Amino acid sequence: PDPMLRPEPLEGEAEDRALRPQLLADFVGQAEARANLRVFIESARMRGKAMDHTLFHGPPGLGKTTLAQIMARELGVNFKMTSGPVLARAGDLAAILTNLEARDVLFIDEIHRMNPAVEEILYPAMEDFELDLVIGEGPAARTVRIELQPFTLVGATTRLGLLTTPLRDRFGIPTRLQFYTVEELDLIVTRGARLMGIPSEPEGTREIARRARGTPRIAGRLLRRVIDFALVEGDGRLTREIADSSLTRLGVDHIGLDGADRRYLTLMAEHYGGGPVGVETLSAALSESRDAIEEVIEPYLMQQGLVARTPRGRMLARLGWRHLGLEAPRPQES
Ligand code: ADP
Repeated sequence: PDPMLRPEPLEGEAEDRALRPQLLADFVGQAEARANLRVFIESARMRGKAMDHTLFHGPPGLGKTTLAQIMARELGVNFKMTSGPVLARAGDLAAILTNLEARDVLFIDEIHRMNPAVEEILYPAMEDFELDLVIGEGPAARTVRIELQPFTLVGATTRLGLLTTPLRDRFGIPTRLQFYTVEELDLIVTRGARLMGIPSEPEGTREIARRARGTPRIAGRLLRRVIDFALVEGDGRLTREIADSSLTRLGVDHIGLDGADRRYLTLMAEHYGGGPVGVETLSAALSESRDAIEEVIEPYLMQQGLVARTPRGRMLARLGWRHLGLEAPRPQES
């Protein structure tokens, strides 16, 4: 469908490193999470201890990886990164854990997709900084205990509900990331344009911010595309006109919905009378995976009040009908 608006990194996409905030003070938005992290980082530094294990959850592209990197930098320790699906065997994780230095930050992305055998060895590692490894097989097998350096695990997940309870309980600092406001995204886009050396008008950056689906990753991507159009077809300045025309050409509507979002809304309206519809039905009809629908498409549509989740399935809310330019057929609760 429309990869431009997907909040996951595109394959091969160079997310401009220069744009990634390096310090907590440069990080825009997530005020509550930021204020708490500042205290926990400072306290860990004062005590000279590893900071508590931290779990970031929320839709993709909101800054989970960025915050983990900032934590390591502010703590003055190394940053190591891996992901749930990459850790196929317990030995893969053991190799990483035994190489950590004292107080390092280990970031595990998509931690809900970790193999249970790997997850098992993570529990004592998180709790007591110990590894219990089984060496050999059959009657000759024995367990050896390895002491680890104290470290901070930072987990990230788009699906808190898929985390096992024992894993979830081992995080001292669970933090939910929220969609960004237009004002916050405007600051991010304005800073990005400045760092890329492109003169911008306030209405130009605002137009991108409004259409970035509440997500910094999308804001950065749209900014790069608008700059392409501004350089090639405009006068090199980021104006509202060039932002509007390029985003419209890219299929991004005025509230940031893309083709996949509109197909979802249209399907609900035209085939299911606005619902309720089950997610499996939507998944089959749209040829999108259930995960993509639940992790990527729906959170923003729900946050915008276009769709509601009910015990009987998804419902198109009145705002959803209105966005399609249609009348809701019967009184709606929302
Ligand atoms: P996640 O891990 O949640 O998928 P990332 O941390 O990889 O998201 O962030 C995606 C992109 O958005 C990165 O290019 C990052 O630099 C940018 N970004 C995220 N949050 C912010 C922010 N608060 N301010 C500026 N840029 C941000």
